[in-house]
Amino acid sequence: MAIYVDNCPRCASQNITFDVHGANHFGNYKEFPKPEVPAYEFFCVCRECHKTTIFLGISIDKHQELHRISWGVAMFGLKDVAKILRPISPADLSVGEPPDFLPQEINDAYEEGAKCLAIGCNNAAGTMFRLCLDYATKGLVPDGDGGPAAKIKRSLGLRMEWLFDNKLIPETLRELAECVKDDGNDGAHEGILDRATAEDLEEFTYLFLERLYTEPQRLAEAKARRQGRRNKEA
Ligand SMILES: [Zn+2]
Repeated sequence: MAIYVDNCPRCASQNITFDVHGANHFGNYKEFPKPEVPAYEFFCVCRECHKTTIFLGISIDKHQELHRISWGVAMFGLKDVAKILRPISPADLSVGEPPDFLPQEINDAYEEGAKCLAIGCNNAAGTMFRLCLDYATKGLVPDGDGGPAAKIKRSLGLRMEWLFDNKLIPETLRELAECVKDDGNDGAHEGILDRATAEDLEEFTYLFLERLYTEPQRLAEAKARRQGRRNKEA
């Protein structure tokens, strides 16, 4: 059986031998500025903990089809035929993309929330989605006489309610905002968010941010394109 030596992400053993059980060709890999090469995922079992790790790699000779090798009887090292790039990790899971045109800090918080949700960390996900809403709504509340009391300003749930009541955010979203309403930081302190609630929060956050940032930007761009066409005609 072919072998491969690397650190094991499952048991943290350093420089441990893996048995290579197979290779799956899933597409191509582009390493700038080199041309695309076939990419593979190698199914490897650690000799220390006997658990499986999938390593991502590319073939050294791009004409050799590594998925056609009989790995069970192969008598060479994986490094003889492939360059290993990294182990596959939860970061490779498919996650929800944020809406377009978000401010950087909101975009980053949304992406982190979506990653947490993908691996079942519902409370961490909830905290990040709330952070998105917190960033997005803080600037909407007026200061001074026209603004709400400090207590309302501080709490995300009360602030959202105040914004709905004062028609500063679209009424159509109010019903969906239920998931934010219970005040405080459930995600941060109580540890009580189940998956459904975290998904509710993700969905509401997406729609809310889309209304707030994506739609106005799309409209502005459409307007600019329209103006451009008029200018061409003139
Ligand atoms: Zn191991």
